[in-house]
Amino acid sequence: MNKDYYEILGIQKTASEAEIKRAYRKLAHQFHPDKSGGDEKKFKEVSEAYQVLSDPEKRKQYDQFGHTFDYQSTAGGQGQGFGFGGFDYSGFGGQGVEFDFSNLGDIFDVFFGGERTREARGRDIERRIEINFEEAVKGASLPIELEKNIVCPRCKGNKAEPGTEKVTCPECKGAGKKETIRTTILGQFKSIATCEKCKGEGTIPKVNCHECGGAGISRQKVTLDVVIPAGIREGMTIRVPGGGEAIESGKSGDLYLEINIKSHPQFYRKEDDIYLDIEINFAQAALGDKINVPIIGGTRQINIPAGIQSGNEIRLRGLGFPRLNHFGSGDEIIKIKVITPKRLTREEKRLFEELRKLGE
Ligand SMILES: [Zn+2]
Ligand SMILES: [Zn+2]
Repeated sequence: MNKDYYEILGIQKTASEAEIKRAYRKLAHQFHPDKSGGDEKKFKEVSEAYQVLSDPEKRKQYDQFGHTFDYQSTAGGQGQGFGFGGFDYSGFGGQGVEFDFSNLGDIFDVFFGGERTREARGRDIERRIEINFEEAVKGASLPIELEKNIVCPRCKGNKAEPGTEKVTCPECKGAGKKETIRTTILGQFKSIATCEKCKGEGTIPKVNCHECGGAGISRQKVTLDVVIPAGIREGMTIRVPGGGEAIESGKSGDLYLEINIKSHPQFYRKEDDIYLDIEINFAQAALGDKINVPIIGGTRQINIPAGIQSGNEIRLRGLGFPRLNHFGSGDEIIKIKVITPKRLTREEKRLFEELRKLGE
């Protein structure tokens, strides 16, 4: 299912918007299902590719997150596991991006559309957390408090009181499952079900664990330290494998943390760049100046060149958000606004009038 949108449209990765449009028109025309010789499947593919590539924002994401991006859903993928620093993308616009934290610190690999094999596992827990702007830039380790079922710390999920044995389940004689034979007028029907008593384990504790009463799990308040990667974007979701609810027999569910980033009083974000509006006066604009501007975690002296115009930008390279899945960082971009004084002192007025005379 590795549909490459560029391939589908038969264009280069560097194709311009006009080229994308042209390719789409031609193919949409060719495959339109209402036409003889049309092909609905191909038509849909082409439309899907166009929807993504014609939108600069989506295209950028697609380019960034790789060609295995599955636009439609997470279903029907290759069924790969998420055993390494994965990055599971199931949506658009920054929605539904997951990080796998089983291998922290590695470069995040990207793949999409994988359907995980389902076995008995506990429920997932979803939480929305708010982080501040600086944390999104620098990354953070945040304590997440949850009340959830965890594997019983006393018996480690074994269900037996520590130091006591487990014995063969009398119900299933250790088989873990039970056969029931039903006799009907049509004959005998055999059905096999997991043994209720031992939950399929074949053994039961001689003495139940005093903490969990033999359930193997207990409900507790826990704090998980979750690492938020530097450069994370609004609406992304971090997946913490095993961070969800534990169950009696089977794996714990996962914890999904949807990230909301608080706005900053001065900075704002576009892609991986940080923007900052700075106001300067006429004299600074005309003569130039050295000023201090805030950067994440401090200040930086910048040079305002003489003759700068309102709307000009000064770029501080590498001081933006780290790029997820890429090396390097965005920039901090200072947008200059030259302020016209609204009220002048007598002296200022005199000076401006002199300037006017000079300009005449
Ligand atoms: Zn226990
Ligand atoms: Zn049993």
